[in-house]
Amino acid sequence: MTTTEIKRHAVTATLLIAVMSVTAGTFAQNAATNPAAAWWAHIQYLASDQMAGRETGSVEHRRAAQYIADAFKRAGLKPAGIGGYFQPVKFISRKVVEPKSSLAIIKNGKAEPVVLGEEATFSMSIEHAARTEAPMAFVGYGLTVPETNYDDLAGLDLKGKVAVLLSGGPSEIPGPLRAHYSNERWSAMKRAGVIGVISIQNPIGQDIPWDRSKLARFRPSLSLAGSGLEANQGEQLAVTFNPAKAEKLFVDSGHTFAEIMKIAESGKALPRFNLPASIRASVVFERKVIESQNVAGILRGTDPKLKDEYVVLSAHLDHVGKGEPINNDPIYNGAMDNASGVATLIEAARAFGSGKKQLKRSVIFLAVTGEEHGLKGSRYYASHPTVPANQIVADINIDMFLPLFPFRSFIVQGLEESNLADDLRKVAKTAGVDVLSDPEPERRAFVRSDQYSFIRNGVPSISLKVGFVKDSPEHEIVKKWRKERYHAPSDDLNQPIDFESAARFNDTYLKVAEEIANRAERPRWNNDSFFKRFARQE
Ligand SMILES: [Zn+2]
Repeated sequence: MTTTEIKRHAVTATLLIAVMSVTAGTFAQNAATNPAAAWWAHIQYLASDQMAGRETGSVEHRRAAQYIADAFKRAGLKPAGIGGYFQPVKFISRKVVEPKSSLAIIKNGKAEPVVLGEEATFSMSIEHAARTEAPMAFVGYGLTVPETNYDDLAGLDLKGKVAVLLSGGPSEIPGPLRAHYSNERWSAMKRAGVIGVISIQNPIGQDIPWDRSKLARFRPSLSLAGSGLEANQGEQLAVTFNPAKAEKLFVDSGHTFAEIMKIAESGKALPRFNLPASIRASVVFERKVIESQNVAGILRGTDPKLKDEYVVLSAHLDHVGKGEPINNDPIYNGAMDNASGVATLIEAARAFGSGKKQLKRSVIFLAVTGEEHGLKGSRYYASHPTVPANQIVADINIDMFLPLFPFRSFIVQGLEESNLADDLRKVAKTAGVDVLSDPEPERRAFVRSDQYSFIRNGVPSISLKVGFVKDSPEHEIVKKWRKERYHAPSDDLNQPIDFESAARFNDTYLKVAEEIANRAERPRWNNDSFFKRFARQE
């Protein structure tokens, strides 16, 4: 080692010590004044720049998974994966090669190019055909809801056509139903003979503006490999269209997109008609198989009978990795989305693992992968559980619960669906907080988090967040957060967290989990719940 090197090392060491003591100092202060310090420490690790945004399949994701497994072990949980705390999950990864791909609207033999990125993007969640050329029809929201006799496809000849739709649905269809069927659009389309879908991003209920969302198109998209769980089989073209550029799809159709948006804003059903043009697409993409991991630990129940029933506490550990830089920052840290939920899960493992509280049922602590690719890790676990499937009685999910202002209420996904609501209300009453339904059903949050993977496998489930009333100042804070930080590099360690809110939320969450793990009867779907149909025979 040369002297200059020694000097340089000495300087680095001094700097390091300085940094460490500042951090330690902040910590000591935190621990004394703020019970959320332990929770925040997990987030500091998981959402640090070194973790590079925990992209599914990356080494950083694996490191995060190891951190969680170690924490579960220290907390006294037993492994509940495959031969350890991990459950491996295989994915097909697809990434568009945009310079070799193209999209155009064909009318009277003339091709009008669609600018990829600015005007539309290919959704790589499906196995695109190399080349597609087909006539287009506008199918409104493209929804088929048998329960309410609502069918956007009725009376249209869609054989061999590409369906153009506006995402979302009419307000006449109840939120959960609308959410479920917008997730399941393809099966009805396929029956009607549709070969591809162009989905115009509905500005209503859209968290991320186009200018930001278009940046995500160069990230690989993941599907579950060889599990038979992917719903889009047979779809050969999937395009997302910028609403600000959608007018060009409607030229000479007798309708305008502006007119369609006006009807959408009124909440009514949309007109449906053939478009006087075809779409021509040629799509080149890279494809590979990758592996990632769910992390699962178990705490055995104390009741001789109820210990054979399992309550799942879930949170996703993956985020979206590195991407297009915003303000020169390429790391999408995912501090709130969802290092925060994983931190809550780890702290719950520590609290329950200490044995101070007796839980009658067994509890699975589950950190899942692939959420950002469409709930893939939870979908895989719910279909390939490491305990008997029909003995999983509930899932409580935490995803980006946003402690940005005082915790006065829970917003609950699934509140109207099962008698888990009774446990929740009981705990909330004691804790002095309100229990609120989703104030923004148009965001389809009910099918956008991991609880939904359990729901569709018959398990009564809920998801919890710090609550707010519609159009309140707190709602504005949440909307601003989504617009600026959601799936952006600024969802990092530098943001205004209300630590007391986080601590109170975490504490109340523990009580909810305890109440559900100890309830006398197995949780049940409400009789009028649409999702009751997925329930297994008991
Ligand atoms: Zn997310």
